[in-house]
Amino acid sequence: MAETLGDLKRTHYCGVLREGDVGRTVTVMGWAATRRDLGGVIFIDLRDREGLCQVVARPEVSKAAHAAAERVRGEYVLAVVGEVAVRSADTVNPKIPTGAVEVLAREIRVLSEARTPPFPIEDELTTSEDIRLKYRYLDLRRPRMQRNIALRHRVTMEVRRYLDEQGFYEIETPFLTKSTPEGARDYLVPSRIHHGSFYALPQSPQIFKQILMVAGMDKYFQIARCFRDEDLRADRQPEFTQVDIEMSYARQDTVFELVEGMYQRLMRLIGVEVARPFPRLPYVEAIERYGSDKPDLRFGMEISDVTEEMSTLGLDTFPGLIAAGARARAIVLPAAGGVSGTRLRKINEELWLGRIVPDARASKRNLFNLKSTDEAVGNLAKKGARESVARRMLDRVGAQRDDTVLVAIDEPGRLAMALGILRLEMGRALGLLDEKAWRFLWVTDFPLFERDPATGRYASVNHPFTAPLDEDIPLLDRDPGAVRSQAYDVVLNGTELASGSIRIHDSALQAKIFKILSLTEEETRERFGFFIEALQYGTPPHGGIAPGLDRLVMLLAGESSLRDVIAFPKTASAADLMSGSPSPVRDDQIKDLGIIVIRK
Ligand code: ASP
Repeated sequence: MAETLGDLKRTHYCGVLREGDVGRTVTVMGWAATRRDLGGVIFIDLRDREGLCQVVARPEVSKAAHAAAERVRGEYVLAVVGEVAVRSADTVNPKIPTGAVEVLAREIRVLSEARTPPFPIEDELTTSEDIRLKYRYLDLRRPRMQRNIALRHRVTMEVRRYLDEQGFYEIETPFLTKSTPEGARDYLVPSRIHHGSFYALPQSPQIFKQILMVAGMDKYFQIARCFRDEDLRADRQPEFTQVDIEMSYARQDTVFELVEGMYQRLMRLIGVEVARPFPRLPYVEAIERYGSDKPDLRFGMEISDVTEEMSTLGLDTFPGLIAAGARARAIVLPAAGGVSGTRLRKINEELWLGRIVPDARASKRNLFNLKSTDEAVGNLAKKGARESVARRMLDRVGAQRDDTVLVAIDEPGRLAMALGILRLEMGRALGLLDEKAWRFLWVTDFPLFERDPATGRYASVNHPFTAPLDEDIPLLDRDPGAVRSQAYDVVLNGTELASGSIRIHDSALQAKIFKILSLTEEETRERFGFFIEALQYGTPPHGGIAPGLDRLVMLLAGESSLRDVIAFPKTASAADLMSGSPSPVRDDQIKDLGIIVIRK
């Protein structure tokens, strides 16, 4: 039977006791992590949020406490009153902060008994993640998860402090709302009062935060939950959290300065000082040099264009490919990385042909590699290549002696991406990544639209409220595909952390963008009429950004799964295994909503 707290009051967390506390009578409470009965003396490791402390129950100190300790099992919740004492030299545990002391139990109360947990409450687990998620409350008790959640709390508090200092208001926006286009599918909530009508859960508070600027709030933020009904990839959650920010009269620089300051403060939480300003890289350059719009700058291995050299090298196949529109790009695998011939073959065959360019058209003739040695160049010349061109190419890509140049020839769009993947794979494989580095950058000037090759229609790369670059506005009529936007991303170590833009604040320009996006006037009115109307009542120029919170905390915590930094995450199939949602509901509930369910 469990006992009550009665008049007991906790004086200390288990994890905080130190030698300075010796001699004090303390009351600690927590879970019995382990219990060892050494015949006469019983040792219990008591665990709470702050850590473990050792409790010792000796009959000569208290018969009752010793008797209580005898019936303690794993994960029982105890209150222990006792004196803090120095541990004997042979029982000191230097591995834990409380390891020099122990609590000599005068009283032990069992506040709650516990069933045997389905997995041990410790950091190193072999248990499947499904079981962990089903018993999330036990999983969260593990020290590592406790640390992650504590870090998340510190991050959100720091964000709030920082933005408050900068003059921002924290304002909530509705969950039950109208669809905001962020390029994903909406979660819909049927209305009971208006049959046939639906609320959409916000994919982001985008329209509301812009309307708050029209409403004179000037600087807004929200630790905002966003909902996107996407097919989930490993690193996505159907509901996730953003630090949503919007400010009036902001130019890009204004946003950059604010956000860099925020990341700097957050990085200090883990003792890392980041340099400012963050480097800035226009999108086109990011693609050219790194084959990615979220380049990992923890290593070099930049991509070079060697189309000219490959078309004049004098080997058969390449000029043909290049004449047909292909480009040639290269990366340099440093000799220091020690790439063997076998390894290169493996890259060529598996990586390139299989994973990077799964298209059958890509074949070995699209690949070429050259070792930067006289011998290799000589051998190439024997096959008919021009030696001077080969040397010029080695020069252009900056190959040092014994480095290997890897060249790929393909249609330009696909080639850029493929080399980006190859660069990353090789950087990792060759151990070139500085694992301790935190390399932030801004990627700017994204294209405003992308064109669907099937339908020929334009879609927003970011969202339709993003402003074009001033100098590209004339292109909107002539060549929308060439228009660059005032959109920017924060990238950290190859991960996109934040995305934002300067917005359109002119209703006529906004209407024009919707038109380019092939929305009819009626569709525009129906979906965004209220917003365009709002813009007509005096709109300050404004801009903002939305740094993702989950991913940042994940990186700061050194975790590789978002689920390890979210208290109650969903699985890859968007299920909550603990509560068992989503789940069927009663027929009368469905009837109230005026909808019909088609059961599969
Ligand atoms: N609403 C955008 C997003 O969720 C961020 C922004 O533009 O502020 O990605």
